Amino acid sequence: MEEIPKKSKIAKIVVDRDACIGAASCVAVAGRTFYMDEENKAVVVEPWGDDDETILLSAQSCPVLAITLFDTEGNQIYPEL
Ligand code: SF4
Repeated sequence: MEEIPKKSKIAKIVVDRDACIGAASCVAVAGRTFYMDEENKAVVVEPWGDDDETILLSAQSCPVLAITLFDTEGNQIYPEL
């Protein structure tokens, strides 16, 4: 597997709304990036609202791995493949 550079820039954040259980941990960690909508599902409000480290932490905090991160070249950063 190709190693992902540590500094890779998060370019795209995808929330799997079917997987999201509304745990809101992503919002607790990265409140400038995500918010909970009226269906209690996480939505990306501002992809550059938080720094990369915070966004990665928020994705890691999701209990159902509903958050997928991609770098500028479209490679998946998280969850690691
Ligand atoms: S942490 Fe995961 S399950 Fe919880 S609201 Fe965010 S995306 Fe949904």
